[in-house]
Amino acid sequence: MNYKIPISKPYLTSNAKDNLIACIDENWISSKGRFVEQFENDFAKLVGAKFAISVSNGTAALHLALLACGINPGDEVIVPDLTFAATINPIILVGAIPVLVDIDAETWNIDLDLLEKSINKNTKAIIPVHLYGNPAEMQRLKCIADKYNLIIIEDCAESLGAYVNSLHTGTIAEVGCFSFFANKLLTTGEGGMITTNDSLLAKKLKVIRDHGMSEQRKYWHEVVGLNYRLTNLQAAIGVSQLPLYDECVSDRSRIIARYKDNLSENGRIKFQKQYSNSTAINWLTSIIVNDISRDILINKLMAKGIESRPFFYPLHSMPPYENYSFISTGASIKISAQGISLPTYFGISNTDVDYISECILEILRVDCDV
Ligand SMILES: *Cc1c(COP(=O)(O)O)cnc(C)c1O
Repeated sequence: MNYKIPISKPYLTSNAKDNLIACIDENWISSKGRFVEQFENDFAKLVGAKFAISVSNGTAALHLALLACGINPGDEVIVPDLTFAATINPIILVGAIPVLVDIDAETWNIDLDLLEKSINKNTKAIIPVHLYGNPAEMQRLKCIADKYNLIIIEDCAESLGAYVNSLHTGTIAEVGCFSFFANKLLTTGEGGMITTNDSLLAKKLKVIRDHGMSEQRKYWHEVVGLNYRLTNLQAAIGVSQLPLYDECVSDRSRIIARYKDNLSENGRIKFQKQYSNSTAINWLTSIIVNDISRDILINKLMAKGIESRPFFYPLHSMPPYENYSFISTGASIKISAQGISLPTYFGISNTDVDYISECILEILRVDCDV
């Protein structure tokens, strides 16, 4: 189906085209090309990390981070119940045990009171997710992690452009994992990045990313590794995307402000709340709607040519994850069932945001009458 207003679309400039043509003209298309290092250096500077290691996608970033942090079979890793499955799958794939913790009903991010209760002697790491671009409660989480000596791996796939105090998400704890999938703030089509300030960890990440091969001695393998490298073609697009950061971030502010102006006075609609000291990025405008079936709302919007999408299903409710421990308050079940995300992309017109908002209000009015 071709939507009149899609939920997201990439913002590509002519620099992307020029850089891609340069890759072909110079005959460098693998991960060995010059754009890869430039993309890593520029990204590190942009977010204020000492090291940035590019990878093939955001899921690979999380998998690699777990491996390089030494998460072993039997270790427990805490994750929020409401997130994309890429947050939990790599935990299971390294042989560790995910421990699901419910979310806070206002911020939709991991509930730290419950999190602290789920820590035991096997707990090794926590993967907070900055859901829809809203930073998790990082200052307090860091205190908890310090107290129990736990590693924090930030899932920043949705939070490029979000800060806690003056620190960019992904630089607050040991390691941050970003995605450049086509619907993220900046994109390389498929791609990812890992940030860290720890030089030893950066080295481990690079070695495992490159088949576990020694950086000094070719074809000598130090550890079991993978090939999770980003190609020069992807990095070429990435290099053209980074200078767009400021305009993309400020455009997201315009979009969320417009949606809030239009919708927040309706008592049946709620937006995500932020923790103090945090600056969210409106990666995807997301609302919870009361007293209407989320699926009916999505279908009625679709009939008007507007693409929207449901929130993620609670992880614990899906077959691969249903047997893992889960501390519940009912929040993830409730928020997931009521949540939808609305069109949010660079350059979406105010007219379109107003049209989408009017359609939602109209659907809610009608749904009330019946
Ligand atoms: C997009 C996303 C990922 C995975 O990124 P890919 O690049 O698609 O592999 C991981 N976690 C969250 C929360 C995401 O939104």
